Amino acid sequence: MDLSQSTLVELRDAVRGKQVKAVEIADHFLQRIARIDREFNSFLAINPTVMDEAAKVDAAVASGLDPGPLAGVPIAVKDLLCTKGLATTAASNMLKGFVPPYSATVVERLRAAGAVLLGKTNLDEFAMGSSNETSAFGPCRNPWNRDHVPGGSSGGSAACLAARLAPASIGTDTGGSIRQPASFCGVVGIKPTYGRVSRYGVIAFASSLDQAGPMTQNARDGAVLLEAISGRDDLDATTSDEPVPPWFRKIDSDMSGVRIGILKEAGIGDVDESTAVVFSRAAEAFRKLGARIVNVSVPTLRYAVATYYLIAASEASSNLARYDGVRYGHRAARPTADLDDFYAANRSEGFGLEVKRRIMLGTYALSSGYHDAYYIKASQVRRRMRDEYASAFAACDVILSPVTASPAFKIGARISDPLEMYRNDMFTTSSNLAGLPGISVPGGFAENGLPIGVQLTAKHFDEQSLFNAAAALESALALPKKAPHGV
Ligand code: GLN
Repeated sequence: MDLSQSTLVELRDAVRGKQVKAVEIADHFLQRIARIDREFNSFLAINPTVMDEAAKVDAAVASGLDPGPLAGVPIAVKDLLCTKGLATTAASNMLKGFVPPYSATVVERLRAAGAVLLGKTNLDEFAMGSSNETSAFGPCRNPWNRDHVPGGSSGGSAACLAARLAPASIGTDTGGSIRQPASFCGVVGIKPTYGRVSRYGVIAFASSLDQAGPMTQNARDGAVLLEAISGRDDLDATTSDEPVPPWFRKIDSDMSGVRIGILKEAGIGDVDESTAVVFSRAAEAFRKLGARIVNVSVPTLRYAVATYYLIAASEASSNLARYDGVRYGHRAARPTADLDDFYAANRSEGFGLEVKRRIMLGTYALSSGYHDAYYIKASQVRRRMRDEYASAFAACDVILSPVTASPAFKIGARISDPLEMYRNDMFTTSSNLAGLPGISVPGGFAENGLPIGVQLTAKHFDEQSLFNAAAALESALALPKKAPHGV
């Protein structure tokens, strides 16, 4: 069995069927990481107890117990999720050396489902970014071409899949951070409906937008992984009581009669040639599969980036106030004159440039005098966007759109121009604002060989339609499983 190329479902079936041991799988990926990851920097930490965890799964299998739906699958987790006893940094100097006394609910649920924790992956600092370049521990590189970014903020979780350093991973998505890196690295990424997945133990960026979700080699793996981490959690009051359906078992890739919505606004902001080609081929593939293509419109989409960056920065400025060097975070070594100076020293040393920019923008947008003009206005646009999506979903079952306007850009190309970087999030931020589930599925390649994904968005809690359409698209496109450049 080629462990690097195997899917999550193949691995767990092999472990359950005693064809391979969980310890062999864990060892295989540990060795690959040790050999290759210095070129990509996708991991920030390896779990020192991964082999013990794997041995426990093997012991369960040997004694006839049910090892669970993720039996023996090593999973890489974005370093924004707390892991008990294992350093959690949010890729920030602010949290360097922080070892959480508890694990995120997502991590607990992975283990309960029989998975083993492989390690913690690189990200943009506090998940703020679209390129993984704002990490305090160095950028992560795209395995398809090391001069290019893997996307962000969950860059490490996407890159480690493309480089086959893990069979599956967990990312978080506040404005596109699962779907965009999935698109840039040629893997599948799912941002669940807001409230599907517990945020307990996920270091907060913008609480009304944040959701953790799976990143996998294909849609079916994504369904299995999402089932394991979803559902009500008493530790997060914003989780939903909505039952978690057996998505994987119910995947139905028959597209006849399914209404695929194409956004009138899908061309905004100059989608590049290769992205447009990949997008229309995907639409054509759905049509050939018997789907009905319908036109829909979400007019406020053109304000999505502005609205998102006001709301996300506002919530971030409030969430990040806790890092004062007393309760949490870095404490400056230099002597300080008074309390204000003490906070200033801790925070200016601990946070990077992009995080500071967001804190300043958010504090400004929430300050009295500007609150109504910015934060309230943005909240009103958000409400309208949600209503527009609801009308669009009266006419269609799933919306097909690009994930980003262009494929992975070069490292360094946008980092000094924040607005250019933010524009990248044009097609992804609206689903977070509206709380909708979305998936990024590989759709094809640009002329330079870099992968390009397409995005599917569905109604609240209708992840099933996403998995169905994504699985159908995967078989229709049958993209070559070629190994990324240099791996
Ligand atoms: N790129 C967006 C931002 O910088 C989204 C980040 C995310 O989803 N965590 O805020």
